[in-house]
Amino acid sequence: MIRVKDIYNYLNREIPFDTQEKWDNSGLIIGNMYTEVKTVAVMLDATVENVEKAIKNNVDLIVTHHPIIFDPLKSVLKDDPIYNLVKQNISLISVHTNWDKSEKGVNAVLTKVFELTDVKDLETEEGKGFVKYGTLSSTEPEGVFCELVKERLKAPIVKYSSAHEAIRRVAVCGGAGADYIDEVADLVDAYVTSDIKYHQFLHASEIGLTLIDAGHFSTEDISMGPLSLMLAQAFPDVKVLRLRSQDPVSYK
Ligand SMILES: [Zn+2]
Repeated sequence: MIRVKDIYNYLNREIPFDTQEKWDNSGLIIGNMYTEVKTVAVMLDATVENVEKAIKNNVDLIVTHHPIIFDPLKSVLKDDPIYNLVKQNISLISVHTNWDKSEKGVNAVLTKVFELTDVKDLETEEGKGFVKYGTLSSTEPEGVFCELVKERLKAPIVKYSSAHEAIRRVAVCGGAGADYIDEVADLVDAYVTSDIKYHQFLHASEIGLTLIDAGHFSTEDISMGPLSLMLAQAFPDVKVLRLRSQDPVSYK
């Protein structure tokens, strides 16, 4: 019989929870280590819609990237996904910054998606793994590379500040990576991340960095497939569902 703790221990071996940032809340957030698990659902966010789908599919455990509880709670009321998970006895584990930094996690997946070679970690204040960089197999015109980013991440749109005619060296940071713009500018031609503000685009173009915002959802959701595959391989007797969240941002 597989219990929540077996999956927690496996994740802890592969993506150690003690590598998370101090401010993070990765780990078992809801539930019971001793509950039996027959079905797991993997998703970026435990949204209202995804929790409904999980309940319909008799899910025992949800694994998310973004922690469902982050800031202190003052209430947990009906219709809140947290309320429904507790009520339905569904446990929830989040792998957040430990997954970002993992050699199998968000940024590692992004380097594979763009087929980067000679991949290195940027040394940041937070340590290694938050930003990875490497070389494309062939030099691409900037516009072509932006199309490639859009296509490979299944992003509805990318926004970018133009700085290079041709792109060969690329850095990646899934989620909000604006803090590292200056550090990567000396190392690469293009930086793929998300949540970029106007003045950051302006700054990037002035320091000669093609800065590409491919959306928070698209730069992270892409790593949920590989995570569900890891669980499916490690627990062949457990049904692993990959529930795709809805990008909360719509584009017209
Ligand atoms: Zn994120």
